[in-house]
Amino acid sequence: MHAVRQLAKEFGEDPGKIMLKVDFSNAFNVVNRTEMLAQVYSKLPGLYRWVEYCYSHPAHLFFGSCVLQSAAGVQQGDPLGPLLFSLVLHPLALKIEAEFPNLDLCVWYLDDGTIIGAMEDVYKVFQLIQKDGPALGLHLNVKKNEIWWPSRVGPDPFPVDVDRVDNAGVKLLGAPIGTKAFTTDFVQKKLDALDAVCKALREVNNAQVEFALFRGCLSYNKINHLLRTCPPDLLEEALARFDEHFQNIVAEILRVPCLSEDQWDQASLPVKFSGLGVNQTKVIAGSAYIGSCTLTRALVAALLGRDVSSFEPAGVSELLSAHEAATGAAHTLPSLAGEKSVQQKLSTERHEALFEHLKTTSSIRSRNLMLSCSMPHASDWLLAPPIPGLGLGLQSDVFRTALKFRLGLPLFSEPFPCPALSSDGKACAAEMDIFGDHAPCCHNGTSLVFRHNNVRDILGHAARAAGLAAVVIEKKNQVDGSKAKPGDITVQQYHRGFASSAFDVTISHPLQKKFIEIAMEEGGVVAEEAHDRKLLKSLAVCEKEGIHFVPLAWESTGGATETVHETVRKWTELEGARGGYPAYLIRRNLYSQISCCLQRHLAQAVIDRRLELGCDRAL
Ligand SMILES: [Zn+2]
Repeated sequence: MHAVRQLAKEFGEDPGKIMLKVDFSNAFNVVNRTEMLAQVYSKLPGLYRWVEYCYSHPAHLFFGSCVLQSAAGVQQGDPLGPLLFSLVLHPLALKIEAEFPNLDLCVWYLDDGTIIGAMEDVYKVFQLIQKDGPALGLHLNVKKNEIWWPSRVGPDPFPVDVDRVDNAGVKLLGAPIGTKAFTTDFVQKKLDALDAVCKALREVNNAQVEFALFRGCLSYNKINHLLRTCPPDLLEEALARFDEHFQNIVAEILRVPCLSEDQWDQASLPVKFSGLGVNQTKVIAGSAYIGSCTLTRALVAALLGRDVSSFEPAGVSELLSAHEAATGAAHTLPSLAGEKSVQQKLSTERHEALFEHLKTTSSIRSRNLMLSCSMPHASDWLLAPPIPGLGLGLQSDVFRTALKFRLGLPLFSEPFPCPALSSDGKACAAEMDIFGDHAPCCHNGTSLVFRHNNVRDILGHAARAAGLAAVVIEKKNQVDGSKAKPGDITVQQYHRGFASSAFDVTISHPLQKKFIEIAMEEGGVVAEEAHDRKLLKSLAVCEKEGIHFVPLAWESTGGATETVHETVRKWTELEGARGGYPAYLIRRNLYSQISCCLQRHLAQAVIDRRLELGCDRAL
């Protein structure tokens, strides 16, 4: 792709050149087996006995009462099929190269051949394939052969049947090569097809499943190949349409009319930067193209017969300058050539820059929210497969509310007095703000207790699965008339020097009133504060009683303290060592469960207040 694009750019205005796309009839199915076995015998003798066993005698195919002989071609689904086919084609490709050393390009991707050179040379190649091919089982499908060149003018020596492709552009290996208009038109067709599938998403009628399907199968992965093979300046208009489409689908999943630019920018970030991982194509197009050019640089230089040390595909240096302007990170093609995952590295730099930009331009609340959502494992609920049986399912209303909360969309049209009832039947009446921050802080109603007990139970289960002697305790029943022992989960013989360890779960909201006006430098401050508060309260009591005390502090958005991560690491390693699943899978599942659980409660607290308001019970 890159080589053809380079040649079209360099020699596009020379009408004496032509590109031939070769197509064989039914190539894999009719390739000559005798030739195939001869090639295997001479080039891969170690494989010969096996291939001979598979292909030296015709297989019987039963069709009704008839028996057919399968005597040509490679078997569909045979993992060796592509190799065996290539072995037969190879001598022909070598012969073409030897007889026509002046060709600009002669490349084959299995049965897709691309030949570029002077018109008469390419025509002779066509004749050569027509003459020598049939003996190998390679029959040209003349009607499907295409000739193309940006400046092609008639007449040409090729048969009338050969397809003469419009000069504007050609489709090669699933991607367009040609003018901007041609590229835009090509992409529009792709987008129309995608749009039709996305319309069907709504029928799933489950927000979590819709989102998982969209992000996993129908978003930028649909055009990654295009982004890698087409330079962004050609795609410009097409990318804008794709981004608009993606933005609309996210709004559609949220069932809101539209997203503001800031909300969409945030949604387009990876989940580790507090986004939804949807990707804006205009942000990552440059990274994708540079990534592919870097990876294929040596190959393309070899195909074109250029010196790799000085070869730079057209447009890459401009893209690298644009990247530097957007991110401040300077790269050169040679410096990137030795790196792994260049596309990912560059797009992460772009996303980091966008994340920083959003943090500095948004309100203090949004900034703190983004920080808390970008903490490790805080976003695992967005990556979890929607499986209710594993505790990873979120109902549509809950999932949408949680998504809106994450993106800072208002959850109510105006503030109202919180209607949640206390145990003695009085309404809370504190102001319920439009973003819903009061809900996960409100001590009325049952939501906080449920949330705490849910997380505690998940952990209790994890501790027992790790083989620990763990007991989950209702605090009020620990010691008669006393709350002296502070742990939610007590584990025997866990920490050296202590008979028992007490793990205490606490969850606090990072956007509670006390903190909301303080612009944080990093996420997790609120969890740290809760951790310290617990220590202050209980450490002395525990030490007196000879108990090892461990606070496990989460933020309601999913982030947690280092102590939590350490504990999870230890427990899941213990569980992994007992057999069954590897520790990293157990850990991933545990984090997902906790993350889903916290989001479920965060959203439910908001929904509860909305419902109470709706049924007018308290007010
Ligand atoms: Zn309240």
